[in-house]
Amino acid sequence: MTGSSPQAPVLVLNAGSSSLKYQVVVPESAEVLAGGTVERIGEDGSGVADHAAAVRTVTDQLDAAGVDLARTGLRAVGHRVVHGGPDFSDPVLLDDAVVADIRDLVPLAPLHNPGALAGIEAARDAFADVAQVAVFDTAFFASLPAAAATYAIPKEVSEEHRLRRYGFHGTSHRYVSRAVADLVGRPLESFTQVVLHLGNGCSASAVDGGVAVDTSMGLTPLQGLVMGTRSGDVDPAVFTFLHQQAGMSVADIDTMLNKRSGLKGLAGANDFREVLARADDGDADARLALDVYVHRLRHYVGAYTAVLGGLDVLTFTAGVGENSPVLRAAVVANLGRLGIAVDPARNEARSREARVISPDGSPVTVTVVPTNEELEIARQAAALLERHGG
Ligand code: AMP
Repeated sequence: MTGSSPQAPVLVLNAGSSSLKYQVVVPESAEVLAGGTVERIGEDGSGVADHAAAVRTVTDQLDAAGVDLARTGLRAVGHRVVHGGPDFSDPVLLDDAVVADIRDLVPLAPLHNPGALAGIEAARDAFADVAQVAVFDTAFFASLPAAAATYAIPKEVSEEHRLRRYGFHGTSHRYVSRAVADLVGRPLESFTQVVLHLGNGCSASAVDGGVAVDTSMGLTPLQGLVMGTRSGDVDPAVFTFLHQQAGMSVADIDTMLNKRSGLKGLAGANDFREVLARADDGDADARLALDVYVHRLRHYVGAYTAVLGGLDVLTFTAGVGENSPVLRAAVVANLGRLGIAVDPARNEARSREARVISPDGSPVTVTVVPTNEELEIARQAAALLERHGG
């Protein structure tokens, strides 16, 4: 595998603690040659003992799918790494020193970085001759101004423990904000945008001239919008209260806020479609869950319009944002005085393409742009190799 052909694909790996998602994609054409997920890594009876076995399963699946990497060449392996900490603001070629730096970040992302590290080590063994690139979910938000990134807690505490707002879903926000410029036909540098990434996890970003200036997630992906199972913003004193008054352990509270809250906590279902269906059937809990979800979104749209000093483009992306006209209409309802509105027919038209859904001549252009994190990782990996001379 020489990796020298310009059209050679990139293998994109997204390793969690017990799953490994992969896609083989050509950065230039966006052609996907193969993709899939290996699940239940390390679980009893799954037959996939560890991440090394999972990478072997990937190569077996590629063989079975007729993807011959020896023939096409493999340009790089691109790894999604959730937390890049204070130092990684760009993709980086993986070597032993970088792997050690990522390991050093495990305390900041104990749920996420260990899985990524296991995937990186397995892939470095399996594809020893191929360049390996880490692409960080936090990197796009390394540009946040100090005013947006700093928590108002004692400076020495933040400094000692590296506490700040890092932001996540950065690969998606970066990809989508650039695709918006293509869609609306304006130079990226020339306009302001808010991107709402609404999937199982949800986050909002404020982007000025292509540069991220605010985002709703914080030290961890728990802060901000209401999500499938995560609470998003709560008074931090909820933690103290539940610990001291309700006798819950810190671990239980953490699990509650990350896994049993959000839509699931309010309506009993984390899947947005199911919550919508229950609300349509008259379920009051589901209705309230949607109201809280929408209220929080409107709060952030308004806040970021002010942070940006005026908004040019508002974009919806990810599973909910791309597919739910009802949600999009609810977010922009009565925002005409801010120049934000959707055309009902455009909003309701089904499409897999990036599209404008606001009326012609609207002060704020509202768009729907499908995200593609795998393609963004492949492109960033390829661009990094090009800078390093192929
Ligand atoms: P993602 O994490 O980007 O895959 O998004 C998953 C979320 O998108 C789930 O909550 C789904 O219920 C939601 N979703 C997918 N399709 C639709 C749809 N047609 N209408 C509303 N929500 C949807």
